[in-house]
Amino acid sequence: MYDIQLIGVSKTYTGSNEAAVKELSLNVERGSIVTLLGPSGCGKTTTLRLIAGFERANKGQIILAGKTVSDKNTWIPAEKRGIGMVFQDYALFPHLNVFDNIAFGYRESDKVKRVLEVLDLVGLNGYEKRYIHELSGGQQQRVALARALARRPAVVLLDEPFSNLDADLRVAMRLEVKRIIKEAGATAIFVSHDQKDALAISDQIVVMRKGIVQQIGTPREIYQYPENKFVASFVGQSNLIEGVIGNDLNTVVTSLGTIPCQHTHCLCEGEEVCISIRPDSLEMDENGHIEGTVIQFTYTGEAIDAVIALDQSDGTSQKLLVHIHPEENIKIGDHLRFKILPNFVAVVKNE
Ligand code: ATP
Repeated sequence: MYDIQLIGVSKTYTGSNEAAVKELSLNVERGSIVTLLGPSGCGKTTTLRLIAGFERANKGQIILAGKTVSDKNTWIPAEKRGIGMVFQDYALFPHLNVFDNIAFGYRESDKVKRVLEVLDLVGLNGYEKRYIHELSGGQQQRVALARALARRPAVVLLDEPFSNLDADLRVAMRLEVKRIIKEAGATAIFVSHDQKDALAISDQIVVMRKGIVQQIGTPREIYQYPENKFVASFVGQSNLIEGVIGNDLNTVVTSLGTIPCQHTHCLCEGEEVCISIRPDSLEMDENGHIEGTVIQFTYTGEAIDAVIALDQSDGTSQKLLVHIHPEENIKIGDHLRFKILPNFVAVVKNE
């Protein structure tokens, strides 16, 4: 059962000659969390605003809980779509206390009970009388979420909800917001340009670029099997190496050798492709067949991020980013050997 469906949705703003969103189709299952992920200007917020009813698509259909809310002949305004919104700046009222912020616009007879219920859900019991300036950033975000959930919306839309939080709080709030949304039983769409947020909270990630969907998949599918070069380098770090499909179709012949790669693409022998090798899938090994010299490295605590200039027999220069165990004692100029762990090697389209 889908709570949100977009079918061939396009939007070009008046006065612009390029579409902000192009032919976007998406099915969001009831109770799932989906993140629209992509760089600035790729059309994430526009997509969210089309679903919310703040903008109207030029083309395509939007269906919420089985009911068409936008197409050529239909237009249901934002206030009648039953959607909860959490804005980037939270949009809380500074002159109202927490209780009144959450109760704002709530006209049902169970108002007091419901506000206390959502306060409990977001872990803010006892904060009813506080004003917004008396709350921390994380607490303000919980109030914004409680307000969005108070009317029991089937769908909650969240625009960059973590961008105002510092790094530690951000990590904690990812888990907390996920718990709250799942406990409320809502279907949620997040907008984010942060791949870590997207990987941590989502059931599905929609990677967008220039208004066009590049790939839709679970966090694991997107990270482990990126379909094109853009997805491979936008979500996580990646070494992209050119090659051609080998004769058994499950190998790619590259300057690093013939690399075994499982893939689901329909490709022929000799076809030009790229392989994406994550820095974590290169492991130091005395017998490894990839050899090179350390030309740069950064100690991050969790790992040593090193750049290795490869020894290439054909005279070309190729560099690899490698994550080395933090206890290794490496120096610039060290000559090292690596082997490839097959788990994070993907064939990506050469486009
Ligand atoms: P960001 O991460 O920077 O918020 P985004 O991925 O959310 O970016 P959008 O805000 O959806 O991107 O913008 C997509 C494109 O549409 C951009 O080229 C932007 O300049 C353009 N755009 C957005 N809003 C308007 C508007 N109201 N009028 C005209 N063009 C707009």
